[in-house]
Amino acid sequence: MRFTPEKYNIPDEPMKPFIDADEIRAYINNTTSSPKRVREIIAKSLAKKRLTLEEVAVLVNTEDAGLIEEIKEGARTLKRTIYGNRIVLFAPLYIGNQCTNNCTYCGFRTSNSSEIRKTLTDSEIISEITALEDNGQKRLILVYGEHALYSPEFIAHTVKLAYSVKKGNGEIRRVNINAAPLDIDGFKTVKASGIGTYQVFQETYHPEAYKTYHLSGRKTDYNYRLTALDRAQEAGIDDVGIGALFGLYDWRFEVLGLVRHTNHLEACYNVGPHTISFPRVKDASTLDIDQSHFVSDSDFTKLVAILRLAVPYTGMILTAREPAQLRNEIIQFGVSQIDGGTKIELGSYSEKQDTENNLDKGQFQINDDRSLNEIINELLEQDMLPSFCTACYRLGRTGEHFMEFSVPGFIKRYCSPNAMLTLAEYLIDYAPENTAKKGWEVINNNIEKLDDETLKTSVREKIEQLKSGKRDLYY
Ligand code: SAM
Ligand code: SF4
Repeated sequence: MRFTPEKYNIPDEPMKPFIDADEIRAYINNTTSSPKRVREIIAKSLAKKRLTLEEVAVLVNTEDAGLIEEIKEGARTLKRTIYGNRIVLFAPLYIGNQCTNNCTYCGFRTSNSSEIRKTLTDSEIISEITALEDNGQKRLILVYGEHALYSPEFIAHTVKLAYSVKKGNGEIRRVNINAAPLDIDGFKTVKASGIGTYQVFQETYHPEAYKTYHLSGRKTDYNYRLTALDRAQEAGIDDVGIGALFGLYDWRFEVLGLVRHTNHLEACYNVGPHTISFPRVKDASTLDIDQSHFVSDSDFTKLVAILRLAVPYTGMILTAREPAQLRNEIIQFGVSQIDGGTKIELGSYSEKQDTENNLDKGQFQINDDRSLNEIINELLEQDMLPSFCTACYRLGRTGEHFMEFSVPGFIKRYCSPNAMLTLAEYLIDYAPENTAKKGWEVINNNIEKLDDETLKTSVREKIEQLKSGKRDLYY
């Protein structure tokens, strides 16, 4: 019988579960890859059209080495021509690792008695933020376990506290959160504190696999988690981030799950996710899970390139779970945000001495321990433009990645100049001499590349204002 994808499609309705495992499996099993098809699909993505699930299935089923190179090249071209050379930098800040769930891959799970439990006090949060600001950070994501202690009111309090800490020219201008799903009222409370993105990962989109990893607690409910972003939208949070934890189930299924989730949000709320995250499972305190679905580096690179082509207007986040060399390589295939100077042990940013990653104090092993400045240096070496920009969020230009992608000239008019201005602030306030030297060269080269003379003059003027002490200038 001929495979008819439409047959499986479940209608998109707000608040309704929208993943049909049979549908996704049918796409994977019944779709084959050919050079002609793969090239047509890459061309469609480069023409700024979003891909269907069937087209994404063709890409994930591509095994031919030459065609995989073409997929990667397509993703590289899309990134270079549409988004340019900017990379947005942020840092995670773990607020508390108490947790009532039992996720078998996570060091914070309730059954892990080796984990040293801690919730930062207000004064500890202030010390952490001060240390982050002293490094030049401007954008944070606050992270919490799932626990009655971490109520919507508590989360809102910590967000407001983070915004309130100012030291010298240091300030946090955007606070995103990664927290367990809430009900609509809870999301309203959190939104009122001024969060940027609300991020939550489905971990695995496969309902049966999901059950095997989530043994007890609220998180056992697959559908409650799946519809978390519907409730967030209902509460007025239209800036959301999705993700899957790669290594729990067949990576091809997860890629289609992420695309299906994106389609659902677009269909119901007219706005897709702001960001997609694709962490791979890393070692954790007393980690004991089956490794049969772990994803190799080459499949990981391929899946990042496929995601870039599949959702061309969505931001993509690659974290310090991955080693520096692999991050440097994968950034080229469409990543738009990375964390820098990351420490995930509770309270560790303000510790005087750098300590080894102790698994019993953190959630998992991180593999890129470069400082923020080292990362900035390496990005500059690669002629990339590190950015701490928060302008769209603060000017209410939500759906910014969609605008970057779809509004002609948006990146040249807003994103690149803002990246230059925020990098300039970093160079003036925090960078050592060698980084500053490289940074100003990159800024000057990027000003030269602007094709609008009035804008060139305006950016140069704003940079002079920054040099004479003004801060927080943006378009
Ligand atoms: N408790 C919240 C929740 O479950 O949504 C916050 C999540 S957790 C602090 C952030 C994310 O880390 C999880 O959603 C999961 O994808 C990821 N994570 C958990 N264990 C991991 C591991 N061993 N390796 C890599 N990532 C992991
Ligand atoms: Fe708790 Fe989240 Fe870790 Fe699960 S992933 S044990 S919910 S912190």
